[in-house]
This record gives sequence, C-alpha cells and structure tokens, in this order.
Amino acid sequence: MTLITANDILPKMKYQKINYDRVLKKMIASWARHDQRPSILLHSCCAPCSTFTLEYLCAHADVGIYFANSNIHPKYEYLRRAKVQKAFIEAFNARTGTDVKYYEAPYDPKSFMKMAKDKGVMDEPEGGLRCTACFEMRLEIVAEASDRLGYDYFGSALTLSPKKNAELINQLGLSVEKDFKASYLPSDFKKNNGYQRSIEMCNDYQIYRQCYCGCVFAAKAQGIDLKAVNAHAKAYVTGD
Ligand code: SF4
Ligand code: SF4
Repeated sequence: MTLITANDILPKMKYQKINYDRVLKKMIASWARHDQRPSILLHSCCAPCSTFTLEYLCAHADVGIYFANSNIHPKYEYLRRAKVQKAFIEAFNARTGTDVKYYEAPYDPKSFMKMAKDKGVMDEPEGGLRCTACFEMRLEIVAEASDRLGYDYFGSALTLSPKKNAELINQLGLSVEKDFKASYLPSDFKKNNGYQRSIEMCNDYQIYRQCYCGCVFAAKAQGIDLKAVNAHAKAYVTGD
C-alpha cells in the first residue's frame, strides 16, 4: 500500500487558504486507516522546535532528526546547538521509550555564505529573501538525506516557530519534493498549542534557547555580542 502525499489532498483544498496542519492531520488519518507507520526525517536547527514536534509525530511515525545548519555562526555556537539537540533526543528517547534517530550533516559555513552571496541576499532583513534561500537550502539537504537514508517523508520542525513563515516553508517543501523520492510532510506545528507546549518542554528538559536565529547577518542586525556568544558556547562544548 503506497503512502498518501500532500498532493493527494491539496487539490481538494484549492479554494481555501491552505491549513497545513489540516493537511497533516488528513495524512495521519490515512496512515491510521491503512495501518501504516511511515518514517519521517525532519530538519531541525536547534532543540526547541523539535520538542513538541517529536511528541506529536512519534505517536504516528518513526522519526529521525536531521541537523543540517551550515548557516549557524560562529562554529562553537553551531556545535553547542548540535550538542543540545542530540542530548534532548537522548533524554526524550529515555523518557518516552521512543527511538528517534539523530543525524548530522557536515558543517560547511562557506557553502551557506557562497549561496547567500551568489543569490545576492546577504543584506536582506530577517524574514526576507535570505531566509527563503536558507529554508530552501536546508529543505533540499534534508530531502537528499531522506532518499539516501530511506525515509518515506522529509519535513521541517521550523513550522513550530511563530517567527518563521510556515506557509513559505510548506510551499518550498512541496516544490523541493519534485526532485526527490521522499514526499514532503506539510505541517504547522505551532497549531494545537504546539508552541506553548514547546516552551513547557524546554523548561522541563532544561533546553538552551538561543537568542538569534543563526546566521552572522541576523546576529549583527540584532546587535548580538558574537564574542560573548562564542565564549559561552565554547565553554559549553568543551566543558571548561
Ligand atoms: S527556528 Fe529558531 S527556535 Fe526553531 S529550531 Fe530553528 S533556531 Fe531553533
Ligand atoms: S535569519 Fe535564520 S533563516 Fe534567515 S538566513 Fe539567517 S539563519 Fe537563515
């Protein structure tokens, strides 16, 4: 029995503003009807957005987290977020009896800077075209990994964040899907009280919450003290 895709549902919702949470719920209902438990590889850029997302999806599917974030600057902050993500998954698995897998893509900040330069989006404000390109880059990376690792679906935990444009992420995911075998998993994880639940889970698991999105451009625009960020992150990573 083949698995349902978002494109089996979306044409029937043509004249409505698309509620991607409803699309996901219809897909989950289809898995339940057909007694299916698919596998999903989700992109995440740090632990907070993966909290409720994993709690929600693990009831219906086998889930892996793909940490692919060459956009994060500086390197120690990248290493810190990766370490926190991995530690959260280990704690979540131990507490819930699930077996969420953790994978990490190579850290290649030059590729992100080149992409931003080539597309002429370095000076865009947060939420503008640089972020669109950054979402797309990471969705392509997770889609490629889904095919390589044999996952049925790829998706993004970022739709949990109220600061991220979930509609844009879903549109990009559906476009990226065309070039890969794995299907895109639409979502709007902030719905169903998801964002509030993520805050509770961050407190419960004592998860580090970063103060800027990730790239050097956003950090500078926000006036973040990157030297201090680097020093704190280095202390966390090295245990000094
Ligand atoms: S969107 Fe923000 S809070 Fe969510 S995973 Fe990415 S960096 Fe973390
Ligand atoms: S602000 Fe965040 S989403 Fe936007 S380009 Fe920077 S790291 Fe990527």
